Amino acid sequence: METVAPFIEVIDEINEAGGGIVKMCFQCGMCDAVCPWNRVRQFSMRKLIREAAFGLSEVEGEDIWRCTTCGTCPQQCPRGVKQIDVSVSLRRVAAEYELFPASVRSARTARASIISEGNPLQGERGKRSEWAQGLSVKPYTEDMEVLYFVGCYLSYDPRMKKVAAATANILNTASVAFGILGEQESCCGESIRKTGAEEVFRNLAKENIKAFIDRGVRKIIVSSPHCYHTFKNEYPEFMVNFEVQHMSQYILELLNTGRLELKGAYPEKVTYHDPCYLGRHNDVYDDPRELLQKVDELEYVEMEDFGKRSLCCGGGGGRIWMDTPQEERFSDIRLQQAKAAGARVLATACPYCITNFEESRLNLEYEDVIEIKDIAEIVNDMLQSPE
Ligand code: SF4
Ligand code: SF4
Repeated sequence: METVAPFIEVIDEINEAGGGIVKMCFQCGMCDAVCPWNRVRQFSMRKLIREAAFGLSEVEGEDIWRCTTCGTCPQQCPRGVKQIDVSVSLRRVAAEYELFPASVRSARTARASIISEGNPLQGERGKRSEWAQGLSVKPYTEDMEVLYFVGCYLSYDPRMKKVAAATANILNTASVAFGILGEQESCCGESIRKTGAEEVFRNLAKENIKAFIDRGVRKIIVSSPHCYHTFKNEYPEFMVNFEVQHMSQYILELLNTGRLELKGAYPEKVTYHDPCYLGRHNDVYDDPRELLQKVDELEYVEMEDFGKRSLCCGGGGGRIWMDTPQEERFSDIRLQQAKAAGARVLATACPYCITNFEESRLNLEYEDVIEIKDIAEIVNDMLQSPE
């Protein structure tokens, strides 16, 4: 394919992202060996890095959009090449010239929706807290213990609203003084940033930070590993530092301190999928497992590719908004792995994972084979006294 990217601009972008390091690559191919794409189709991060090193990237093609930012290859690279940063740099150039291949165009729709309504799902900003109607959820005020940052999918997506409701019930049961931002909450911006929309990300971060500071927020709890990652590791670029905990960590703490008590039993075989942005990107592997193992009669099983080697669901890096042919979905493989492990329930802790797994469950006709649950939903089921 003919290269249309301005040579200098690609090099500048990559250098700006600390990309001088691409020159360290000695083309060993380890990244390709571990990349989940090579389980479903051919894709070479090694080739992308080589082309980037010479400023010869095909920024108009699909390959620069493929990386799900799962974090597997950066962990394995013997030369410390930052593959994700390189991908994002190339996407910045493509986004600037509006070079979106057909399969990526829906990410542009998500971007437009984020700019106009503060979420990628084309939900009205005014309806951001509709999920909480009748659930005893208050607007955040300074005297409260924690801010629950709900996130876009849990605010608007019908499947994920159930997770938001379960979470609110857990917090209320534990008598946690919590509140939400409602219409003042905007998308955290983590994933749109990975599609190259740097300016959009910066504006979202500034809006959220202003909302946090104006309301005297000190501690934030989140359901999405993507919100967790960006608040913890990216918002500090704006010289702020808020205490942030993922819900799996927070609920475990509520149980360990006796503020929450589990009552029923859950006689099911359950496995846990590590979301990339909780596990590999932030080293949270044990808390969700410890939480599940506190549930009476729950039989915990591990599936293939867990922990540091967890198979990506395919939704990171903005891929959740892009089109992936059915035969190329990592989430289908994940469900097959869960089934092979004998699990009846695939538990996880990320809205993108749940969205992809629910879709694979339908595509594979696994409705009677496996259930998909956020761990907060399992905990919530255990709050009722047994009959
Ligand atoms: S693993 Fe690192 S050094 Fe090896 S080809 Fe990939 S980027 Fe280059
Ligand atoms: S970060 Fe993950 S998806 Fe991206 S190239 Fe590396 S292994 Fe592949």
